[in-house]
Amino acid sequence: MYQKGRAWIELNMEHLKHNIGQFRSLLPADCALMPAVKANAYGHGAVLISKALQEEGIESFCVASAAEGAGLRRSGITGEILVLGYTHPEQFDDLIAYDLTQTVVDGNYARQLKRDGRRFTVHVGIDTGMHRLGERWDHLGEIAEIFRIPNLNVTGIYSHLCVSDGKDGKDRAYTIEQIHHFEYVVEELHRRGIGGFKCHLQGSYGILNYSELCFDYARAGIALYGILSGKNDKVDASVELKPVLALKARVESVKMLYQGESAGYGLAYCAEKNQKIGVLSIGYADGVPRSLSNRGQVLLKGKPAPVIGRICMDQMLVDLSGIEHAVPGDEAVLIGKSGDLEIRAEDMAGWADTISNEILSRMGERLERIAV
Ligand SMILES: *Cc1c(COP(=O)(O)O)cnc(C)c1O
Repeated sequence: MYQKGRAWIELNMEHLKHNIGQFRSLLPADCALMPAVKANAYGHGAVLISKALQEEGIESFCVASAAEGAGLRRSGITGEILVLGYTHPEQFDDLIAYDLTQTVVDGNYARQLKRDGRRFTVHVGIDTGMHRLGERWDHLGEIAEIFRIPNLNVTGIYSHLCVSDGKDGKDRAYTIEQIHHFEYVVEELHRRGIGGFKCHLQGSYGILNYSELCFDYARAGIALYGILSGKNDKVDASVELKPVLALKARVESVKMLYQGESAGYGLAYCAEKNQKIGVLSIGYADGVPRSLSNRGQVLLKGKPAPVIGRICMDQMLVDLSGIEHAVPGDEAVLIGKSGDLEIRAEDMAGWADTISNEILSRMGERLERIAV
């Protein structure tokens, strides 16, 4: 069914299981993983990944939108699915039809859900300092009010940390303040006789740098896929994470570029000597950042092949000097291992001046996803 056609993603499900094990041994026993499978599971393929997670006993998932949640339900995911983002009233039907848990993104949104009148299951977002989504932590009256809305079944509250990856004193202090704000909200709700809800706060870096925290769920994203956001990131927890995704493409043509000749759009690369070049059947429409033009490399037969010229929508060019016997049909590795060499998503992110989260979540629709 699945073919390694022009360009594809290979998913190492053993590595995924390994990473789940690492997180489970790090987290307190009564804290459950609630993996972030938004953005097509960070490009890995939401259905394949979520099914594998479900087989490993995971019963809660987070997605960005109601549409993502609906897609998972239609594919047979049975656990709790939390929509982290905004759902427009025109999509409220989906929340009900697919039994999704919606985030109350602020007090106003709670009133919108109330006006609709149907019974929604929700988690209340708390803004503890990121100032993105959530009702402000110090608006306790407003937060408590949400619990009293008759048609809302509030099963959880959560917040999000925005500098838990930071290692300096300032970021640590800010994170600790966020944690205190969240704990304050929980305690204050309990003091007012409101209980029976689950709490969650940590994403990957919150888990890896503040593993002593003990909430009901941990929303692991990027690190569950076996990588960190940045190449030089350091974390406190000593876990061994293994990358789940490899990105590969075919060599579709091999040719000579003679000294002084230029190649590709804008003639952005010029050959200083006669050289062999390869054309790969993958481009920016597949998620290879265009900023990798004349930057970075791929692997072929265990050797590096530098990117030359501009990345095209569906193709890219590489320098094959130093790689003998490359022929059309060969596999090029853009992320993953080839022989003794490895390119990690963090490496590609570094070349493209971004984080691996962006690289992965933008992996293209037309890449085949193959579990190996
Ligand atoms: C994306 C997201 C996560 C997961 O973050 P990672 O850093 O990838 O682990 C957790 N919580 C919220 C609210 C998110 O938006």
